[in-house]
Amino acid sequence: MAYQTINPSTGEVIKRFTEISDADLDATVAEAQAAFETWRQQPVKHRAKVLNAVAAKLRENAEEYARYLTLEMGKLIAEARGEVALSAAIIDYYAARAEAYLKPQPLPEAPGSIVEARPLGIIFGVEPWNFPYYQLARVAGPQLMVGNVVMIKHASNVPQSALAFAQLFEDAGAPKGLYTNLFANFEQVARLIDDPRIRGVTLTGSERAGAIVAERAGRNLKKSVMELGGSDPLIVLEDAPFEPTLDNALWGRMNNTGQSCVAAKRIIVVGKNRGAAFLEGLKARMGALKTGDPFDPDTTLGPVCSEQAMHRLLEQIEAASNGGAEVVLGGGRVKRPGFYVEATILTSISRDNPIFRQELFGPVMSFYVVDSEEEAIALANATPYGLGGSVFTADLTRGRRLAARIESGMVFVNHPTWTAPELPFGGVKRSGYGRELSELGFGEFVNRRLINVSPVGAPPPGVNQGG
Ligand code: NAP
Repeated sequence: MAYQTINPSTGEVIKRFTEISDADLDATVAEAQAAFETWRQQPVKHRAKVLNAVAAKLRENAEEYARYLTLEMGKLIAEARGEVALSAAIIDYYAARAEAYLKPQPLPEAPGSIVEARPLGIIFGVEPWNFPYYQLARVAGPQLMVGNVVMIKHASNVPQSALAFAQLFEDAGAPKGLYTNLFANFEQVARLIDDPRIRGVTLTGSERAGAIVAERAGRNLKKSVMELGGSDPLIVLEDAPFEPTLDNALWGRMNNTGQSCVAAKRIIVVGKNRGAAFLEGLKARMGALKTGDPFDPDTTLGPVCSEQAMHRLLEQIEAASNGGAEVVLGGGRVKRPGFYVEATILTSISRDNPIFRQELFGPVMSFYVVDSEEEAIALANATPYGLGGSVFTADLTRGRRLAARIESGMVFVNHPTWTAPELPFGGVKRSGYGRELSELGFGEFVNRRLINVSPVGAPPPGVNQGG
């Protein structure tokens, strides 16, 4: 693992970065700990001012910040601008809401008792490359407003984006140690998790990394949040409006070049005739995507993030095909420099096909046709994952009823799974545990401290336990 920028649209190595030394790592933890001692005492209004300034800097330099994303992980430039705006919105959201979220809660059943939310200390995040700022905003926004401080090990292929995000805090006049970017290796990650000054661990990424980091956190009895992979179903019922649902399925599967944890990776259409028509519609739309430089506004299909990611996808397509799946669109590498995979559709995927249970992290769609709503639900839930899911139907009551049967952390009716500051984000099963965003994300690394005040000589609170 080396921290470096490789332009995925050309394969060119742009810049390499050196890892932090063990001595410097220790010094930065000490700096973060010192920052925490001061930051935790600051009034919420002061914290909000700092975070608003961070969001303002991000907006002020939106174009420069968007360009780092496109350069380092190949996101289409329009989508990169969208991510910058969303990240700033998340930070502002928590700056605005923290005061209400932090209000001590009286316990009506226990007079004299309140529960207050206190910060824990340094929260350590291990983050992925697919939404390089959004992932950081999901951690930094709530945790800094709670009064915690944050240290981040970002993905090794987005070092300039990682540095740029950290720079926002410096530019906003935040105290040193409030937000720290670390070019750390895996051994150092393990050491940090063991360090008693680190009080919570959050990871967004693959199941493999999640299991390693969660195990380490567990051994240290530290709270962790795991935001892991997904293979979200998108169910199309007979009554869903045809064209708009096609557009949604396309966007749900292909945004961010298909590299989203909540992408609609499995399209499940109810009804044979509808299924056949829907597949033709998808083939036409996906086949019309235009491969090119992600900086070019006319490009609609960018590269995947790395050579390794490209080879992994191509191997998965081959394994799917060897296992009996039909490749009805694409299936190969695009003949041009860089790491491009054709927009691909797989059908006839049997339950014993290796990719039936795998996540396809790129522009590859699994397409299924079933005979009934019951079959659609059974197929939707036949996955080790449980992140998001969606149902498309003109009948909202039916949509709600079906949504309630999908085993996942998020379900949307008539929209692919998506994200907003106020919507809790996270999964069940092998998609992980805990939530980010909304008030739920705010509460993950908090000491909900009970304070009970009784008059001198009062009996113990609660039901008289005798004796
Ligand atoms: P990944 O390999 O797990 O990488 C994610 C982060 O974990 C990176 O910073 C990576 O560092 C680090 N990491 C990997 N192995 C580690 C280890 N043994 N010890 C410590 N750190 C380790 O994930 P990815 O393949 O790049 O990202 C895609 C995955 O993330 C997909 O499965 C996707 O669904 C999931 N994801 C989930 C969510 C969610 O909210 N649920 C959001 C986005 C993505 P290096 O870069 O240095 O390897």
